[in-house]
Amino acid sequence: MEEGTALKEEEIRKLIEEIYALTEDLELGCGAINCFMCAKGGSLNPCQRLREAVVLLPHENTLIRRLNGRGFPEINVNGFSIGFLTPEEDCPFNREGWCGIHGRHPIDCRSYPIVPSVNERGDLIISISIKCPVIPPWSFTKAWVENWYKIWKLAPLEWFRFYSTVPTNPLKPIAIFKVEER
Ligand code: SF4
Ligand code: SF4
Repeated sequence: MEEGTALKEEEIRKLIEEIYALTEDLELGCGAINCFMCAKGGSLNPCQRLREAVVLLPHENTLIRRLNGRGFPEINVNGFSIGFLTPEEDCPFNREGWCGIHGRHPIDCRSYPIVPSVNERGDLIISISIKCPVIPPWSFTKAWVENWYKIWKLAPLEWFRFYSTVPTNPLKPIAIFKVEER
C-alpha cells in the first residue's frame, strides 16, 4: 500500500473514532416522542416503516467489530469494502425495535435525519429527511453538518457517490459545500 493511502486511511479511522466520542451523548429525542419509525424493527415489528438503508464508512466496520464483538455484512464498492444493509434488511443489532448497540452504533444511524449526498460535481449537500417527525435541535444539526463536512474532506468521493445512489426517504437540502473546498 502506498504511504499516502495508508496515512489517509489512518486519518479516516481517527476521524471516525473522534466523531463517535463527540456524538456518544448527542440525542435527537426519538424516545421522548416514542418514535421508532426509522428503526430496523424486522418483519414482525411495524417500526420498519421508513425502511432506511445503513451504509458504513470505509474502515468503520472494524471499529464496530471492536466495540461490539461483531459487525455488519459487507459489500464491495469500487474497490473498498463497507458494512451495508439494504432498506429491506433487518439489522443484526435490532433488539425488538431498540438499538442493541446504542452509543456504539454507526455514524449513518446517529446522524439521521441529517443525511449527506453529493451531486455530479462532487459538491456536498446536507439534507434533512422530511419523514422524521422531529425537528432536530440546532446543536444536533450543527454537529452533523460539521461532522459530514469533515468526513467529505477525507473520505473517498466514490463512497459519497455510492451513498447518494442508495434509496432513501424524501430529503430537503439545508446546506451545500462546493467541491473546490475539498
Ligand atoms: S424517524 Fe426520526 S424521530 Fe423517529 S426514530 Fe427515526 S430519527 Fe428518531
Ligand atoms: S445499529 Fe442500531 S440504530 Fe443502526 S440500524 Fe442497527 S439497530 Fe438501528
